[in-house]
Amino acid sequence: AKRSGRGIVRLFDEQMDEGIRVRRLVEAGLTQAIARDELTLVFQPIVGRGDLSIAGFEALVRWHSPEHGAVSPAIFIPIAEESNLIHQLGDWVLDEALAQVRHWPDQYVSVNFSPVQFRRSHFVGHILDSVRRAGVDPARVQIEITETAIFDDAERAAQTLCELRKLGFRIALDDFGTGYSSLYNIRKFALDCLKIDRSFIDGMGRERESAAIVHSIIHLGRALGLGVVAEGVETEAQAQALRVAGASHLQGFLFSRPVAPCEARKLAARRALP
Ligand code: C2E
Ligand code: CA
Ligand code: CA
Ligand code: CA
Repeated sequence: AKRSGRGIVRLFDEQMDEGIRVRRLVEAGLTQAIARDELTLVFQPIVGRGDLSIAGFEALVRWHSPEHGAVSPAIFIPIAEESNLIHQLGDWVLDEALAQVRHWPDQYVSVNFSPVQFRRSHFVGHILDSVRRAGVDPARVQIEITETAIFDDAERAAQTLCELRKLGFRIALDDFGTGYSSLYNIRKFALDCLKIDRSFIDGMGRERESAAIVHSIIHLGRALGLGVVAEGVETEAQAQALRVAGASHLQGFLFSRPVAPCEARKLAARRALP
């Protein structure tokens, strides 16, 4: 037993070493990614529930590393958050998203902000500088934050959101249902919409629980006068169930994968998906 115990410990150490090694590699690569033009943005349409009209696009970052190939943001965003690279990366994402929204007739661009960015001092002033520099109306910029961003210091978060809202920005609470925000907090926040996490949409057809949660979130959102966006919609059955339940907007591979900026421009000009 002792021996196998040591074996497990050693295996664990090796896995730790491997994890640290990968993280160092990614961190080193990411530091240069912006300067070397290795980052791009793709845009996924967010459509109205009834027709296929495009209300906005979510900006999603992509990294094509010459050393590692395509690296998922699910891998490199957490690493960027731990190493402070997230600020530089986030600034790049915002500027690039703003450069694109200027080419669309009237849709908004929805930009993901990590909790680390959101908690930075002068967050509001920083975003405002960027949109002014780009000449974009804040009403065409939706700020996506997760519950984690508002969890530690709800008072301060509420104030930040209130300032952003007064300036005309749209605010979306992303991955709703997976975090820790209490309903008490939701009430106090200046929000425009809730985004239901993909995991619930995915489970909807299979488990009663997921379907019940989706219905409750939609009900809650509507009762509070918020939009409700369902993300990760992959099947017509899901879309239909979500329409019946009263979601205001849908997003997912069923409608469109995230597309390159030139494609987003074409879709935006047509105002609806084909
Ligand atoms: P998220 O904000 O929840 O973004 C939605 C993710 O779901 C995206 O993955 C999108 O491509 C994917 N998705 C959309 N529709 C479907 C569908 O129908 N089926 C499935 N299976 N997936 C779908 P992606 O682009 O890999 O991004 C992963 C996460 O990385 C994002 O989750 C977000 O948390 C983070 N992320 C991406 N771009 C940025 C960024 O610019 N800044 C920050 N801070 N985080 C980002
Ligand atoms: Ca998001
Ligand atoms: Ca999400
Ligand atoms: Ca998600």
